[in-house]
Amino acid sequence: MFESLSDRLSSTLKNISGKGRLTEDNIKETLREVRMALLEADVALPVVRDFVAQVKERALGTEVSKSLQPGQMFIKVVQSELEAVMGTANESLNLAMQPPAVVMMAGLQGAGKTTSVGKLAKLLSERDKKKVMVVSADVYRPAAIEQLKTLAEDVGVAFHPSNIMQKPIDIVNGAIAEAKKQFIDVVLVDTAGRLHVDGEMMGEIKALHAAVKPVETLFVVDAMTGQDAANTAKAFDEALPLTGVILTKADGDARGGAALSVRHITGKPIKFIGMGEKLDALEPFHPDRLASRILGMGDVLSLIEEVERKVDKKKAAKLAAKVQKGKGFDLQDFKEQLEQMRDMGGMMSLMDKMPGMGNMSAQIKEKANDKQFNQFEAIINSMTPLERSKPEQIKGSRKKRIAAGSGTQIQDVNRLLKQFTQMQKMMKKMSGGGMQKMMGKMKGMMPPGMGGMGGMDGLPGAGGLPPGLGGGAPGGLGGMFKKRK
Ligand code: GDP
Ligand code: MG
Repeated sequence: MFESLSDRLSSTLKNISGKGRLTEDNIKETLREVRMALLEADVALPVVRDFVAQVKERALGTEVSKSLQPGQMFIKVVQSELEAVMGTANESLNLAMQPPAVVMMAGLQGAGKTTSVGKLAKLLSERDKKKVMVVSADVYRPAAIEQLKTLAEDVGVAFHPSNIMQKPIDIVNGAIAEAKKQFIDVVLVDTAGRLHVDGEMMGEIKALHAAVKPVETLFVVDAMTGQDAANTAKAFDEALPLTGVILTKADGDARGGAALSVRHITGKPIKFIGMGEKLDALEPFHPDRLASRILGMGDVLSLIEEVERKVDKKKAAKLAAKVQKGKGFDLQDFKEQLEQMRDMGGMMSLMDKMPGMGNMSAQIKEKANDKQFNQFEAIINSMTPLERSKPEQIKGSRKKRIAAGSGTQIQDVNRLLKQFTQMQKMMKKMSGGGMQKMMGKMKGMMPPGMGGMGGMDGLPGAGGLPPGLGGGAPGGLGGMFKKRK
């Protein structure tokens, strides 16, 4: 769930990177893409409009902080607005009252009310050690009453019987009276839904609500209905004093728009999220976590800071200049590249939890932690400065000494030299116009060393380019957020 929204948003955010400061002009494009990303995720139009307007206003009104780049600032604004839209903390059920606490479900037919009653019964009885009773006021479908009975048996909670000849209000009042006798903590009331919002159904559930006065009235809505979820939410919110939302079938929805829309339109917290048909597939909803998941970048700010710290900009720029002038790339340069890679590998472990980064970070880590990397470094460490700057002088006896000094074999030294020679050739080829073009592209938000992240396929270990010069991601940040195959 939410993958496509997060992908889309992350890739649009690169457009802002490297801009001098946030102006109406340079955020226009990115704002438009944020809007598209939300619409694609099936977020309702009014919600999108409000969201984009809010982001724009805040982005332009934000003081340019010295410590943040404009792109980072923009991301920060988007993230905090997303959090605001989703609510910032998880809200649980309010059951602190004279028992029994009555919890009523409301929603369209097929939304997942009955299933959610079963799941909630399980959660409350197992996790919270509550004595739970369930009852069905769905007098239109005998099968629905049977369905709930079966669920109650599966979960092992009390089931108050009802039949289609009874009135919903009588059923629920009967259940509450019985619950009192049995010292039940929570009565979960399942109700009837229609395929579409209609006046009769709304009248009925309003009357039931007024008679029963539940402490919690939960609107159950199918995440897969996207835009429609927003309209339905509006109708139910107007008819009933909802206290929260259960968003079901989130396991089947890749877009995630309903979560944003429903919260924004009703102003009511999503309290639970249904993640499957099984009875244990109900999770407390954490809006703040979801906001960062949607952005697909975890704590992106601290990450960017980390990158800036770890990658030695000066060294990378020096190397780039050297190569650009056509000067030789020597083993000392190679060693520095290897060191940067190792730092990067450590940093990549921070990125694991970030959607869209999984693939790439594993790939980089694998290479950075490669035994061969460490071996290469050890070998170069055992060389004299002269050998490092003039690798062609490394012949028989020098090789033997280097191998012994680094605890490796002569073949290992040979392998390093071979890789190095390949890379040197590549660098020579690039020192013409191609190189210049590439360096131009890399002048993004990231230091040159990071700009090369997109070129990770060409790591020294793979016989390609050193990281600082990899010909990848224009703009640096963009490469970070693209999934790499
Ligand atoms: P009701 O008419 O609102 O009571 O809806 P039901 O509880 O009968 O559910 C309708 C269908 O949706 C059933 O097939 C359920 O198994 C399915 N369902 C409910 N919640 C979820 C969920 O979170 N994920 C998935 N995949 N299916 C669900
Ligand atoms: Mg039902």
